[in-house]
Amino acid sequence: MSRTVTLQVLRAGWCRHLECMADRGGRWASTPFPALCGLIRHPDAGWILYDTGYSEHLFHATQAFPERLYRTAVPVQLPAQEPMHRQIKALGISPGDIRTVIISHFHGDHIAGLKDFPEADFIALGADHQHIERLRGHRWRATLGGHLPALLPADFSARLRVADPCKHIPLPAWMAPFEYGLDLLGDGSLLGVPLPGHSEGQLGLFIPDAQGRPAFLVADACWSAPACRAGRLPASLAMWFSTHHAGQYRQTYQHVGAVLRREPAVAVLPSHCTHAWEAFVDEQ
Ligand SMILES: [Zn+2]
Repeated sequence: MSRTVTLQVLRAGWCRHLECMADRGGRWASTPFPALCGLIRHPDAGWILYDTGYSEHLFHATQAFPERLYRTAVPVQLPAQEPMHRQIKALGISPGDIRTVIISHFHGDHIAGLKDFPEADFIALGADHQHIERLRGHRWRATLGGHLPALLPADFSARLRVADPCKHIPLPAWMAPFEYGLDLLGDGSLLGVPLPGHSEGQLGLFIPDAQGRPAFLVADACWSAPACRAGRLPASLAMWFSTHHAGQYRQTYQHVGAVLRREPAVAVLPSHCTHAWEAFVDEQ
């Protein structure tokens, strides 16, 4: 096997929102927001996913009220071949070949497919996992915050490796103001970067060398790379609904914007940005 880490960015469904929700300079027009995932191949650790996007499990988890409000507020489109477990099969990879799923955070659009990967271990920040566990039995509060605990496999806790104790290693100086990453595999190839504000603990992923270029998967730290690069925040309403801590969110947003402006060679990939996704695919 090649010693190179490879990264493909795949869409597992999408929802529609007003464009101006992600970019307050955007149009008052409905636009698709893809649920993007990273499919990573590591020379020793094998196949790894960064998030799972949407899956059929989301529809089961949102059949009853109040969870049904989730799908009413965020209408999801998921063509039959688009759930990640089907897409990877089309690439010749069995769902059982996915050995690790790195979870950016526990909102439904990032974890809906966890049950589709029975052999995978999970990596996430501890505070974010504890948050969704505390929401079990608090159905309204969970739903209004975008959390659907029913999406977690029954044995989730036993398969979880908390990222927090991983060795902190310095990031390259050009990633400033981000200073360190959590060495998720112990070889410096995949570095978890805390991106606080959007959720209780959001884990970005910096890949120093994804087939010859650095990639930075930033989940929901921003929704539109062009807006973040220009320093335009999401709409106030979107921030109010979907940020756990507004001050931390703004700071993380500024930090991602600084990297976007200064380092065009870094593929900065928000989970829901069509623009960044298409640019990355074009360059592959
Ligand atoms: Zn989110």
